[in-house]
Amino acid sequence: MLVIGAGCAGMRAAIEAHDAGAEVALVSKLHPTRSHSGAARGGINAALGNAGPDSPARHAADTVKGSDYLGDQDAIELFCAEAPGDIYQLERWGVLFDRDDEGRLAQRPFGGAGAPRTVHAADVTGHVLLQVLYEQLLARGVHVYEEYFAWRLVLGDAGYPGVLAWDLVRGGVKAIAAKAVVLATGGSGRVYRGSTNAYACTADGMAMALRAGLPLEDLEFMQFHPTTLFPSGLLVTEAVRGEGGHLLNAGGERFMSRYAPEAMELASRDIVSRAEQTEIDEGRSLDGSLLLDMRHFGREKILERFHGTRDLALTYARVDPLEHPLSVRPGAHYHMGGVATDVDGRTEAGNVFAAGEVACVSLHGANRLGGNSLMETIVFGRRAGRAAAEEALEKGGSAELGAGARAEGEREIAELLERREGERPTAIRDELGASMNENFGVFREEGRMRRQLELLEDLRERYQRVLVEDKGEVWNSDLTQALELGFQLDLAVGMVSAGLERRESRGAHSRPKDFPERDDQSFLKHSLVRWSSDWLDLSWKPVTITKWQPQKRTY
Ligand SMILES: Cc1cc2nc3c(=O)[nH]c(=O)nc-3n(C[C@H](O)[C@H](O)[C@H](O)COP(=O)(O)OP(=O)(O)OC[C@H]3O[C@@H](n4cnc5c(N)ncnc54)[C@H](O)[C@@H]3O)c2cc1C
Repeated sequence: MLVIGAGCAGMRAAIEAHDAGAEVALVSKLHPTRSHSGAARGGINAALGNAGPDSPARHAADTVKGSDYLGDQDAIELFCAEAPGDIYQLERWGVLFDRDDEGRLAQRPFGGAGAPRTVHAADVTGHVLLQVLYEQLLARGVHVYEEYFAWRLVLGDAGYPGVLAWDLVRGGVKAIAAKAVVLATGGSGRVYRGSTNAYACTADGMAMALRAGLPLEDLEFMQFHPTTLFPSGLLVTEAVRGEGGHLLNAGGERFMSRYAPEAMELASRDIVSRAEQTEIDEGRSLDGSLLLDMRHFGREKILERFHGTRDLALTYARVDPLEHPLSVRPGAHYHMGGVATDVDGRTEAGNVFAAGEVACVSLHGANRLGGNSLMETIVFGRRAGRAAAEEALEKGGSAELGAGARAEGEREIAELLERREGERPTAIRDELGASMNENFGVFREEGRMRRQLELLEDLRERYQRVLVEDKGEVWNSDLTQALELGFQLDLAVGMVSAGLERRESRGAHSRPKDFPERDDQSFLKHSLVRWSSDWLDLSWKPVTITKWQPQKRTY
């Protein structure tokens, strides 16, 4: 079987599939340890109860409330119940989580959580996880096609799925067939200009699935993180607020007291980002940014627990958080939507699975809680790896892609490389990013979304003539960036189309002017978009409710 993507989700899936007895290979456009999971800082959630009373049930209740009641409660309960076991497994493999004075795994508070539940390795948790998972992968001898760029998912007439991938180092198309495929290609944050995501987060897997005819769920929900460093957009971890950081407006007021009087800065991200955007829109910001103050932590705590954050601030903002507050604003951060799967990562295709940020289980619903995403890569990466391995092991014969698939891929690439006239991708990409921030940001409304769809139609039209200037085959980033832009444009159409149809405000989808309230009567349901000829069809499916009926959400 084949895993596409070597971040935390992909590597966890590959390890599990190998241990279940399947022959596994992994394809990744980046070296595995350069995957974006490595940027995760604050930590990973599991109800261990080490820093105060906690339980999987409390974790589940917080996640349901955080999701603005859109998360599927069966998936949430299962996730919260399995998370502690996965933390201990990671520890046994060698993840050096921080410990408290009694020697137990330390846990810090995070937004929207009713107990300190976030396990961490200083403020470099994702980096540590990636290294340990990679070590486990190597120990098992799993083959990794490093620096292969997958750009087409083939569902396969003969019942075997696979991908077409471009060999970045040597050039040339590789057609890889498998008995089961796991998509673990991460998120799509780079659809926006202002984003905490790496340049590699370009929605590849989501768009490949969409083009292959699979449905994508809840695409309208893009999380805006409240504390991205101004002006670079790099993330300042939620752990700063978790450990007591203050958000201030231009007048020095802790403005969260007006929006979430109890939780204050530790309200969930959608609420804090909306509060910040309101402060900005109503003229109480400093040139479009707010202040995050951690000076009261004291020197020792900042140097010990936030050395990564301090380095980031010194390097990219030339501000020392020991001396001054940091300038921050909301930025695109995490896509709650993705390829629709069940709790085993299985998509509608049956032999194609998805896990991690590319997937929508749906664990996060309309708003993700910080720390739940790394845990999702582990819990659902493991489950998808196991289910895909079982699927592969049941099948006989050897996997092959239809004869035409590779030739068709070669034709597509040749056509791009041979084109002599057209428009470079940069301008299209810049317009896409800027307009998504402008028209589909923290706040949305009908007119702007309609304008955005028209603009996207125009950008997709221009993209038909996109020009790849580098005609070489080796390390042709011009080529891959052009392909990534195609992914982003298709996905953006899905996001805005779903946003237009969701005529309510819920979680990260906020329409204060035209539909300011949550409307459970009409919209307690997941959106599903599916490619049909050249545009998208939209349908809905119900939310799974087990214990928690929707309530008014206050913090
Ligand atoms: C700055 C930042 C900080 C964060 N901090 C936290 C945190 O503290 N706690 C938390 O829970 N969550 C955090 N998150 C979210 C979390 O880190 C991610 O959601 C999660 O790590 C995604 O993991 P993944 O394995 O799904 O994808 P990734 O780690 O992004 O991996 C994707 C993989 O797919 C490969 N790939 C992509 N496209 C292709 C292609 N076309 N062909 C071949 N390979 C491809 C890439 O090479 C890569 O190996 C943070 C996110 C950001 C941006």
